[in-house]
Amino acid sequence: MNYQTILQEIHAEVQACLGEGRIADYIPELAKVPGSRFGMALQTVNGESYAVGDADQRFSIQSISKVFTLTLAMQLAGDDLWRRVGREPSGTPFNSLVQLEHEHGIPRNPFINAGALVVTDVILAKLADAKQTVRDFIRALGGTTDIDFDLSVAASEQLTGHRNKAMAHFLKSFGNLDCDPDGVLDAYFHHCSIEMSCRELGAAGLFLANDGVAPVSGDRIVSSSQAKYVNSLLLTCGTYDAVGDFAYRVGLPGKSGVGGGILAVMPRKFSLCVWSPGLNEHGNSLAGTRALELFTSKSGISVF
Ligand code: GLN
Repeated sequence: MNYQTILQEIHAEVQACLGEGRIADYIPELAKVPGSRFGMALQTVNGESYAVGDADQRFSIQSISKVFTLTLAMQLAGDDLWRRVGREPSGTPFNSLVQLEHEHGIPRNPFINAGALVVTDVILAKLADAKQTVRDFIRALGGTTDIDFDLSVAASEQLTGHRNKAMAHFLKSFGNLDCDPDGVLDAYFHHCSIEMSCRELGAAGLFLANDGVAPVSGDRIVSSSQAKYVNSLLLTCGTYDAVGDFAYRVGLPGKSGVGGGILAVMPRKFSLCVWSPGLNEHGNSLAGTRALELFTSKSGISVF
């Protein structure tokens, strides 16, 4: 399989839709990124690496951080986590409050904002320095020591993130946060603000394609079953209320962020990360989703 040729074809074909979609301007600092950017990187569990476009340009990983916080929370809390957060698709936008009232403060899954706030609380309750621990965990996975928060993005969300603040306090009112909501929000906003490139994100996510073992270091990050759990959750919950359409078109577990990144995983083969800032109405990268769909169509490789 000539992955580099496929990536180059995709790069040429997505040009027509670059600049379409909407940049996430509800976090004002994110609106500064030019909408025409596009990068894609594929890394195999055997150490091969392929990339096109802006694959080395860092961007705000936003909700893709939820993959790494969930992984850490699974390490820290094991199955106890599932008493406080569900494992079903939400069918509602990532920042919706509606379901929480009906479901007594138990978020549907760890990848919507409410679920990620609970996951962050689990980490914060066990580790005082949740911000740094998550950053260092991602640095170690990505094999890059200078991956860091974008403090202006974190501050921008701290100023404007009233919906997330409402959600954290709402969770607290149901007894589903142990820590102070403001501390949980501060850690959550910082995790979302981490900047990484497609190549760094792909490297960091490669343990999910390799039965839970980071292929470069050989370190076991999670058990083989836990890697299966995370990938299953990505497939069913990773792209919010567009998850059915994403699974239909792309056929890979994936996690999107409103910075325009999507990290996808092909178990036992590769990670595939794409970035383009213009979003569709569900908050997933428009050109990124198209690029992943082209990839699985052209290569004939998907989980199905
Ligand atoms: N920080 C963003 C928020 O909480 C993350 C959302 C996302 O990437 N989907 O709204």
